[in-house]
Amino acid sequence: MKFGKITPEIIKELKEAVGDDIIFDEMIHRMAYSRDWSPRDDKNIHLPDVVVRPRTTEQCAKIVEIANKHRIPVTPMGGLTGMGGGAVPIYGGIAFETKGMDQVLEIDVDNMTATVQAGITLWELNQAAKKYGLYLPQEPESKKAVTVGSSITCNNDSAFGIRHGRMIDHLTNAVIITGEGKIVRAGRRKALCSNSGYQLNWLLVGSEGTLGIIVEATVKLIPVMKTRMVDMVVFPSLDDSMNAIRDIMHSGLALESAHINCEKRLGFYTHSYREKHGKEPDIPDWAEALLGISFSSMEDHDKVVKFSRDYALEICERHKGLPVKEVELTDGWWASKYTVDFTPFRQKWPDSQREKKFGAVDCGIPIGKIEEAYKAFLEIAGKYNQQILGMCVYHERPNRLSPSVSFAVFVDDKDPENVQGFYSYVREMSEVAIKLEGTSATYIGDSEFKTPWIGELEHQEAYEYMFNIKKVFDPNGIMNPGKKFPIKMFGYEE
Ligand SMILES: Cc1cc2nc3c(=O)[nH]c(=O)nc-3n(C[C@H](O)[C@H](O)[C@H](O)COP(=O)(O)OP(=O)(O)OC[C@H]3O[C@@H](n4cnc5c(N)ncnc54)[C@H](O)[C@@H]3O)c2cc1C
Repeated sequence: MKFGKITPEIIKELKEAVGDDIIFDEMIHRMAYSRDWSPRDDKNIHLPDVVVRPRTTEQCAKIVEIANKHRIPVTPMGGLTGMGGGAVPIYGGIAFETKGMDQVLEIDVDNMTATVQAGITLWELNQAAKKYGLYLPQEPESKKAVTVGSSITCNNDSAFGIRHGRMIDHLTNAVIITGEGKIVRAGRRKALCSNSGYQLNWLLVGSEGTLGIIVEATVKLIPVMKTRMVDMVVFPSLDDSMNAIRDIMHSGLALESAHINCEKRLGFYTHSYREKHGKEPDIPDWAEALLGISFSSMEDHDKVVKFSRDYALEICERHKGLPVKEVELTDGWWASKYTVDFTPFRQKWPDSQREKKFGAVDCGIPIGKIEEAYKAFLEIAGKYNQQILGMCVYHERPNRLSPSVSFAVFVDDKDPENVQGFYSYVREMSEVAIKLEGTSATYIGDSEFKTPWIGELEHQEAYEYMFNIKKVFDPNGIMNPGKKFPIKMFGYEE
């Protein structure tokens, strides 16, 4: 069995059903939707046959209904900043651009919720909510491009994960278009807690567009923070920095962010400092970990924040931590993670993204195994000739040590062998994560790259149950094919 092909008749059928101003089949449009931010060489680009850019839920449902009738693949797309090929239409068909669905439907100030069309970016949603003193504390670095829909289906990391968690902690309600083109409301309206039925809204979290297209979402908001203090501290080991975070949390302080950077990442920041200021920052030779932390408050004065910060630094000292004196270093880190204002502190090592492409493998590693995972990272990246950028440990569950670890490299995407080496590196690091009793994916997902082997490596008998769930939502396997489940499981030929 093969997927259906887009024909002039099907284009006509689509245009008649939803209007010809949202259907595009010129090459220039198709090319714009043929890749995301994942490292790939020029031979690995996948053109969709047609691009759709609907504005209403009804249009979305109609398009998928027609696609399902003809067994045409449908690949939902947000900002295309995904790093694993999740939104790449590897079997062609329909590129489903969701960013035309960008309306704020309601900001409910009393209940502190926002209901939006899912193609709105996190940034735009927050511009609207901030007018009411509210905001969604979901803060990936890529927030200006990332849509609410893809943030749900990727469950991506947020700068403030250790305090506020991420999308799974904010999402109360979602409306999806299933693989048959049905409109299904999943969730509990504006309530954050429920044990009625199954929590289908949570099932969508991390589903990578394989269960359906999210077209609407209701999320919980919090007040805008008015005061904040940000600091960086160096430690003699990764374990020391982890223990400091643990003790800060257990002391009763409410950390807002806590990111550990390895020695190589520390080198990235000191290099940028040197480039800009022409002098060496005062960082001791023994420093092997750089911890960034912040505290914030919705109050106008800094009493709570200042106390929290001073006490946290005291705890860091107990764990041999030394605060970084250079404010510019801390500002540079904070600019890259939160304000996204890179101008004063350009990343010049290497000339980011022009010479080589940023690539990462995203593993969940148990807290006591970070040092071991780091050693494996250096060894495996070296084995596959990957230029190491470094390791970042984010904590992504509220008030928990919950490492979501980014092992990042620079990939030479002009060299197919280096790109191939990157895929082997991803596979081997995933094996390490599972051997250490962790997980192979925390923010990039299974995506295109891990799908061929993820069932066997990570899920075993549970994979069949997952596939049965997939079939309930998408009986013909047209939703984002080749992601999470190889298409042969549906009986399709490559
Ligand atoms: C410079 C840069 C910085 C980054 N920083 C971070 C970071 O701090 N934290 C982090 O976690 N990630 C980060 N990323 C990775 C990336 O931004 C995230 O994975 C993000 O969630 C992708 O969002 P997107 O809108 O670009 O989605 P896309 O790449 O377009 O799509 C991602 C996945 O979502 C699916 N999808 C999209 N929209 C929908 C929808 N409406 N319904 C169903 N499925 C849908 C797609 O099919 C695909 O599987 C960064 C990437 C870059 C390039």
